[in-house]
Amino acid sequence: MSRLLFQGVPGVTDVSESLRAQSRRSLAPLLPAGAPGERSLLAGVARSLEFVASGDKLHEECGVVAIYGHPHAAREAYLSLYALQHRGQESAGIATADGHHLANIKGMGLVSEIFTDDVLAKLPGKMAIGHTRYSTTGDSALLNAQPIRVDSTKGLIAIAHNGNLVNLGNVRSRLEREGAYFQTTSDSEIIVQLIAHSSAGSLVDAIADSLSQVEGAFSIVMMTRDRIFAARDPHGFRPLSMGRIKNPGGPGAGPDTVVFASESCAFDLLRAEFVRDILPGELVMVSEDGVTSRQYASGTPQSSCVFEHVYFARPDSRIFGRWVQESRDQMGRQLARESGVAADVVVPVPDSGVTAALGYAEEAGIPFRFGLIRNHYVGRTFIEPEQRVRDFGVRLKLNPVHNLLAGKRVILIDDSIIRGTTSRKIVRMVRGAGATEVHLRISCPPTISPCYYGVDTPSKKELIAANNSIEEIRHYIEADSLAYLSLDGLLQCVHDENNVGYCTACYTGNYPTQWVDVEDILPAAAVL
Ligand code: SF4
Repeated sequence: MSRLLFQGVPGVTDVSESLRAQSRRSLAPLLPAGAPGERSLLAGVARSLEFVASGDKLHEECGVVAIYGHPHAAREAYLSLYALQHRGQESAGIATADGHHLANIKGMGLVSEIFTDDVLAKLPGKMAIGHTRYSTTGDSALLNAQPIRVDSTKGLIAIAHNGNLVNLGNVRSRLEREGAYFQTTSDSEIIVQLIAHSSAGSLVDAIADSLSQVEGAFSIVMMTRDRIFAARDPHGFRPLSMGRIKNPGGPGAGPDTVVFASESCAFDLLRAEFVRDILPGELVMVSEDGVTSRQYASGTPQSSCVFEHVYFARPDSRIFGRWVQESRDQMGRQLARESGVAADVVVPVPDSGVTAALGYAEEAGIPFRFGLIRNHYVGRTFIEPEQRVRDFGVRLKLNPVHNLLAGKRVILIDDSIIRGTTSRKIVRMVRGAGATEVHLRISCPPTISPCYYGVDTPSKKELIAANNSIEEIRHYIEADSLAYLSLDGLLQCVHDENNVGYCTACYTGNYPTQWVDVEDILPAAAVL
């Protein structure tokens, strides 16, 4: 049974305050409560532990959903989160509202482990927001799991956030001077506290006011007792789309259900039709008066995360106006054009390398084969504390198909090399299965800089491409050849008539925000 936190659920004790006290006590030997950097330390410790536990891949940190006007809103939110499980596997939560009360339940674990029928039955109401998160384990993580429910001067507000804010230091300390009492160490609560302290007359004005004061990446959904809000940051870093479930009674039977989700694949499970993306800098409100929208910010160049197309988003999703499957197919084709090599088979590193490998194989005219099989039943939270055990971890996840690889010249397709340790094990595995040559092709440029916009990245010193030439990396991973997709090639693959601007900072080091508060958002491992 997952550990759960109940807030505002009739008949169930809310233990948030004792968790907060416990979390402060465990930090006390490290740093006095309230001391400068306390929050950075906590976040840094947590993020470092996360990366150790997660292997050599980048991790998205969140997926969000919202449902307005459905008799089984909690169940619809559950199904949406289930479809977004790839965006975060360590905690999940759903908050619902029935016009009077706002209940919130969150826990550690997979969506299906947390939200049994009994738990969903405790979440009444026709409105819901939900969140799934990549995070660490322990009580502080449970407290910081989302949605975050805050009883503010503007009433009860629940918020779920995908992304990372970057100008926190000033805002948080200013709010604390003004009397704000933070319930969590999460960035997301800053938005709610800004709303609570806004002098704007109406709630929607207060939300617009608060969103315009924070910088960084945020695709958020918020809920009060009777309204749902959805917004994206002015750069549009993370995806967020709106959909609609037709009223089953037909025209005239009542309003349709309005849904929001980080990725459109969530709509398919709900049988919702895709309506549109929320625009960068747009705030949408859904109430009994219908759907209204306003631009709270304009004039900022769009910088949507190109790595969503490379790796994070599901290929059956449509984000930033285009299908992810189409982008990845194009990346594979472009990679074949840029760095073709004579070979007998094209083999993807499953699962994320599959679509690019299909494109590569078709473009190169070389047979595609599933030469590596992934065990889908290995827990995503498999703890790998030592190098010796980590080696075992890769063999748990992947196994070579000997008869497809023996005696063959193999092109391996993967979507990234982070530290290089996993790539080396995979190359060795393929060679150990009898391949005569192993050529590694990566469907994006070398990752040379950490992400500050909601993706868990190791520090620069741990990124192999930040510190080594491509030839040095090739030598380290023991491949016969190594090539990455060029930056121009990648941008061509995601370009279309929508003319979306993309963030490519992890490949270039050019960050689209004005400044980055490094003290507050040190990437994993840099703090320790
Ligand atoms: Fe995406 Fe990389 Fe930009 Fe982060 S730095 S938002 S991962 S493109």
